[in-house]
Amino acid sequence: MSSESSREEPTKEPTKEPTGRTATPLDVLVEVQDLDTVISQLQHRKAALEERRQLASVEETLAALERRRAAALASRTELATRQSDLETKVAATASRRAGIEQRLYAARGAAARDLQAMNEEIGHLDARREELEDEELEIMVALEPIDAELAALATQRAQLTEHAGALRRALAARDGAIDAELASSVAARTALASSLPEELHRRYEVLRARLGGIGAARLVGNRCSGCHLELPSMEIERIRHLPPGTVVTCEQCGRILVPSSGAAASGPSPPDDTGPHDAP
Ligand SMILES: [Zn+2]
Repeated sequence: MSSESSREEPTKEPTKEPTGRTATPLDVLVEVQDLDTVISQLQHRKAALEERRQLASVEETLAALERRRAAALASRTELATRQSDLETKVAATASRRAGIEQRLYAARGAAARDLQAMNEEIGHLDARREELEDEELEIMVALEPIDAELAALATQRAQLTEHAGALRRALAARDGAIDAELASSVAARTALASSLPEELHRRYEVLRARLGGIGAARLVGNRCSGCHLELPSMEIERIRHLPPGTVVTCEQCGRILVPSSGAAASGPSPPDDTGPHDAP
């Protein structure tokens, strides 16, 4: 911009760049654009962190595991309830049998018919007890794979929980580093943008929202750095003969076009014309 710094600028008052040289509002605007690009990239990088993706996947696996665990626990509870019912019944049968045996001992002189009845009852109770114990055995067999599954799930769960913890810590560290970069870029952007003429700023924001985050593009040589298309030479000539600082837009993409410092004089140093670049 040195070639233009001495000329009259139709757009508002010049601002001081950090370097101390005078910058036109359009110079400031491309710098704001650069910072906005950096900020978008940082936000994108933060959202796309590998740890974040991995953590989401681990949490999904944990949730699925939790559902399997809940189902296994429900089956287990049902079987355990049946088991406990059977045990109560076995105990009741045993106590009835003991009662009859006592009566048998006490009734040595009783009628043979009564003794036979009591012996038959004992026989029935023993058969009943055997049935109950068979049922109980079936339940214990059914419980085995459920308990094995629950144990396996507990092991998996412990491993996944630990992995999730490690990912959360790594993610917090990386988020923190990006947040620090973001904070400084946002602060720099805010400071720069505050010096922009309101109308130019507003127009830039509208274009930026509409055009994929890029509202202002450098004109490098004959090429718009926003759409990367070459402008017709007639248009280039027209732009070059406009009063410096006049706001022009690329006729192809509609972005505010900022002639780059060296370009007008086909200077040797085309600045970063690729738009997005990384943090300083
Ligand atoms: Zn363009």
